[in-house]
Amino acid sequence: MIPAYLEESLDTRQMQEFLDHIDNCPECKEELTIQFLISDGLKTLETGDNYDLQSAMDDKVSSSHREIELHNRLFTIRNVCVGLVLLMCAIAGFGVYYVFFM
Ligand SMILES: [Zn+2]
Repeated sequence: MIPAYLEESLDTRQMQEFLDHIDNCPECKEELTIQFLISDGLKTLETGDNYDLQSAMDDKVSSSHREIELHNRLFTIRNVCVGLVLLMCAIAGFGVYYVFFM
């Protein structure tokens, strides 16, 4: 799952599970760090940039957390919209019933 995460090919739910696991599993976190160092460290060697790999990885993990948070927020907004539409249908339905049958 770590290579898939680094390639950013996990969907949001998989990424959330992965990050939850990483937060609670030092072995996998270490494995992720090593694989990140290998994949990103090579790029750094190519460009010759001198940058902090540990903070680069922290950035990546925290941007993943933000992505999940945004996703969850959009999901909540969608549920609220659906709820409002259903409520309006119920009110409209009641209005029609009231006008024609009362
Ligand atoms: Zn683990």
